[in-house]
Amino acid sequence: MHDVIIIGSGPAGYTAAIYTARAGLRPIVFAGAITAGGALMNTTEVENFPGFPDGVMGPDLMAQMQAQAERFGADVRFQDVVAVDLTGEVKTVTTDEDEVLSARSVILALGSEYKKLGIESEARFSGRGVSYCATCDGFFFKGQHIAVVGGGDSAMEEATFLSRFGSKVTIIHRRDQVRASRIMAQRAFDDPKISFAWNSVVEEIHGDGKMTGLTLRDTVTGETRELDATGLFVAIGHLPRTAILGDQVTLNDEGYVVVDHPTTRTSLPGVFACGDVVDHIYRQAVTAAGTGCAAALDAERYLAALGDPDALPLGADSRLEALTDDDAPVGGPAPLPSLS
Ligand code: NAP
Repeated sequence: MHDVIIIGSGPAGYTAAIYTARAGLRPIVFAGAITAGGALMNTTEVENFPGFPDGVMGPDLMAQMQAQAERFGADVRFQDVVAVDLTGEVKTVTTDEDEVLSARSVILALGSEYKKLGIESEARFSGRGVSYCATCDGFFFKGQHIAVVGGGDSAMEEATFLSRFGSKVTIIHRRDQVRASRIMAQRAFDDPKISFAWNSVVEEIHGDGKMTGLTLRDTVTGETRELDATGLFVAIGHLPRTAILGDQVTLNDEGYVVVDHPTTRTSLPGVFACGDVVDHIYRQAVTAAGTGCAAALDAERYLAALGDPDALPLGADSRLEALTDDDAPVGGPAPLPSLS
């Protein structure tokens, strides 16, 4: 029986691992067989993670987070979790190697993936003109014609951000009306550098090593035309990675795990969620790390409330007694309100 199993190994999962390991809870971290390290493994230089004034390569940052977690005793395993049973007091996690592990608490740091256009050339030019994150890569497209696909808030936000760098920005949207909120859309409409390619989809991305242009198809007439953009930001939404959860924890309409903000508690006791599987708004490495920390503290507190002596800070045995005492002294764990 383990105290904590962490599923996922982006900034949220590894931060949860650092905190729970440092608290002596010996977390098992399922980092993933292919996706270990999360979204930052696919980025190049990360310039906005605090503490790295000269920037840091995404994979290097993740390697350092992993090493930091392991230094305190986290057991990082490069396996996928294929099934979970989170409903009882004892949670079980099944790996792709048919191992079944039990734990008193589980931290879900499953992340999300960018929704893709699904055309063959998209993968070929990924990182060579095609990007999914303006905050990460916008800077590299200074003075260029940048295209953004999508009609939601993400596309408006990305386009508005990218107009600082690009010579011009074209938003390609498959309909003639945006889905975005009025305020975000208005900001894009008012920006003199931004124009719209309405009723259009990307049919093909061209280039020789690096992207040099796009073929657009009109969704009404079927006609095609060329766009001389050298950058393409795909902002058509995200897909939280919740497939293994089934309907065990409450998800919102968009499929993100619902937590009892500002805590990381899910609808199931002992199950906590952090990072992009919860957050559809900020989606930054540093915000994911922050919620990973919160999940670790919530799990620690939950275990302490269960009476797990490992989860108690050294020298604080009185805290355990305090849990059964209505007149618990200040500093004892707060009661855990249940989600209804
Ligand atoms: P979204 O609202 O689902 O919008 C996705 C957009 O992409 C839609 O316009 C959709 O077209 C288009 N699209 C979807 N699949 C496509 C495909 N295969 N090919 C071409 N176009 C496609 O996603 P989002 O913009 O990422 O926003 C998600 C949530 O986060 C929303 O609740 C949003 O308000 C929130 N958000 C908030 C902020 C903010 O407040 N600062 C910023 C970003 C996101 P259709 O319209 O035709 O369906």
